[in-house]
Amino acid sequence: MAKVFVIDVARCTGCYNCQLACKDEHCGNDWTPYAKPQPETGQFWCRVEEYVRGAIPKVKIHYISKICNHCANAPCIPAAKNGAVYRRDDGLIIIDPEKAAGQRQIAGSCPYGAVYFNEALNLPQKCTGCAHLLDHGAKLPRCVDACPTDAMRFGEEAELAELTAGAVVLRPETGAAPQVYYRNIPGMFIGGTVYDPVREEIIEGASCRLQSGGKTWRTATDEFGDFWFTDLPVGVFELAVDAKGYRTRVFAALKTDESLNLGDIALDACD
Ligand code: SF4
Ligand code: SF4
Ligand code: SF4
Repeated sequence: MAKVFVIDVARCTGCYNCQLACKDEHCGNDWTPYAKPQPETGQFWCRVEEYVRGAIPKVKIHYISKICNHCANAPCIPAAKNGAVYRRDDGLIIIDPEKAAGQRQIAGSCPYGAVYFNEALNLPQKCTGCAHLLDHGAKLPRCVDACPTDAMRFGEEAELAELTAGAVVLRPETGAAPQVYYRNIPGMFIGGTVYDPVREEIIEGASCRLQSGGKTWRTATDEFGDFWFTDLPVGVFELAVDAKGYRTRVFAALKTDESLNLGDIALDACD
């Protein structure tokens, strides 16, 4: 039965335990025929990436733990000679450390950059799904077992169906059909602070209306004068900010290819 990983970004605290556990399991340990040792530095079969959005003081950070996607249509398999990369019955993709020696092209074939070339061993290497543990009674790979928040899950596809429903895979356009699913990857945000420049006070309850492609989002400023539109798609937006007794401010052509902190927005009082 096919196994899958599910990673819930909303539960990830960026503690790096998964990355460290992978190092602990695979550095200095020869798990042939599953894998030879992972280098101690520079190469990360489990890699936690930090994403910073917005600008000070409106900044949001999230972390995404990345491993081999154990793709159902893995381009690393046909790129290998002599069957050096293969899929197991449980769906895990393994680089055979004996057959793959010198096959640098395997590293180049992965659209996710999940395969590293270990120069010292003359060998392409990557996450094995900790198949050496699973085959000897372990229920979970080391990285999943080490995750303190259950942000990482691993199991039968059918058992995790509730979690994979609505989840996404990274860069689906590669056609590789990843078997690592991600939940709650945050979208972009637009935020700002609305204030009265004459009274030098923030304005609470100012109405903020965002529009794009016929769709409208609404919110209001909080007790700090702040507003946030979160989880926005990439696109072009128009924002209108108004409050009773003030002139409306309009911001056109706001592009959310990155999150935007619009900073302090002054509203002028009506005459
Ligand atoms: S992520 Fe890369 S190395 Fe892993 S199975 Fe997919 S193509 Fe192969
Ligand atoms: S499954 Fe094992 S080899 Fe793969 S990233 Fe996790 S700890 Fe590392
Ligand atoms: S161990 Fe879990 S919480 Fe910590 S960085 Fe990895 S996925 Fe995130």
